[in-house]
Amino acid sequence: MRKVIRKKRRRQRKFYQLVFAGIFGALLLALAGVLIFSDSQKNQNASTILSKLASYQQKDGFLSDDLTSKSLSALTDEVKAKKSDLYASDVTKITEKITALKMDLDLQTQVNALFEKPVLTQKGVSQEAIKNDLTQAAVVAIKLSALTEKNKWATGVTSSISDAKSQLTEIASLRTSISTVQATPTQSAIDQLKVEVAKIKNAALAKSLTDQLTTLEDSLALKQKYADKKYIALTFDDGPNGATTPSILKTLKAEGVQGTFFVLGQQAQSYPNIVKQAAADGNEVSSHTWDHKDLTTLTAAQQKQEITSAQNLIEKLTGKHVPFFRPPYGNFNAATKSATNNALIYWGIDTNDWRYSTAAPVVQNALTAAHSGAILLMHDIHPVDVDALPQIIEGLKKQGYSFVTVSQLIEIQNGSITPGHVYYGN
Ligand SMILES: [Zn+2]
Repeated sequence: MRKVIRKKRRRQRKFYQLVFAGIFGALLLALAGVLIFSDSQKNQNASTILSKLASYQQKDGFLSDDLTSKSLSALTDEVKAKKSDLYASDVTKITEKITALKMDLDLQTQVNALFEKPVLTQKGVSQEAIKNDLTQAAVVAIKLSALTEKNKWATGVTSSISDAKSQLTEIASLRTSISTVQATPTQSAIDQLKVEVAKIKNAALAKSLTDQLTTLEDSLALKQKYADKKYIALTFDDGPNGATTPSILKTLKAEGVQGTFFVLGQQAQSYPNIVKQAAADGNEVSSHTWDHKDLTTLTAAQQKQEITSAQNLIEKLTGKHVPFFRPPYGNFNAATKSATNNALIYWGIDTNDWRYSTAAPVVQNALTAAHSGAILLMHDIHPVDVDALPQIIEGLKKQGYSFVTVSQLIEIQNGSITPGHVYYGN
């Protein structure tokens, strides 16, 4: 009986041993499976990220357009989130690649910024500033060429820089040629320069130089038009006046003559429609300051206020920018010039209209002093000028004069208006 029981127990023990072995084996197998599975998953995760990173680096050495700092930070986040699904060595490898790409992207952004800055485009960018940009770009290019796999890109940037540098030299010599031609313009020289300007790759710069040549061409045409003609500029100060200026405008229109009005801001504010009418008739409307103060008694800041407030109002009324003004009493000092970018307009012939109550002496003063290229001073606020103007125009026409605005007179005599310069006419 005992033997039977012992046998039974031994058999039971063996059975349990087998069961345990089976369960243990199964567990081992499952664990191995999990390990093998997770091993291949980890490798796959790493290779997906690495191939994505590799795709940003194009074969030609340039960076793909898909590479942005956003896409890189998205990848950084992804790596952080999947850290447990990646091998530590892969995390290091990926992080290193991301850092390297960030640096490349940074360099590319720097280079792009330098070339977008519009090397050479904007007016007013000094040659020195452009040279600095190019030097910076050259430094970036050296950094680039130090990076492996970037040689082609670095070569591209370097050649862009040398291209820009040679353009810069060409442009500098073109500018010199333009100013030489400006001094003694001929149509054939202008045409030749136009051909050279057309070769400039930068559209904005080409346009600004073309505009310069067109202005030169226009002034040459005007110069030729008046080459053997007598011309004179009639100027009217201190208006507009509600009673007298409309009559002056009427005479000018009837005679087919255009003059230049140096109006006061304060008066223009009172008679905006007269200012608009003067401009609509083709007359030039410029500033005589806001309220006729002697500028030399004012500070530079006060002078600036006097000049710009009037100019702003006039520009608003006429829609035209006139780059000059006439100082009251013809008085100005060094502070006047520093207070404005405008040129200053004087006169050559003073009719002394304000001294007289009859037209005859005013007409006589104008006609006896008249000479070609002169700027004649009148005031559209005196009734005597209303009476004198038709006779002055008739008399000058008889003497063979053509009438020009002050802008035209400067264009004929000087080609272009220089800020701060004082023009007296001939
Ligand atoms: Zn005045």
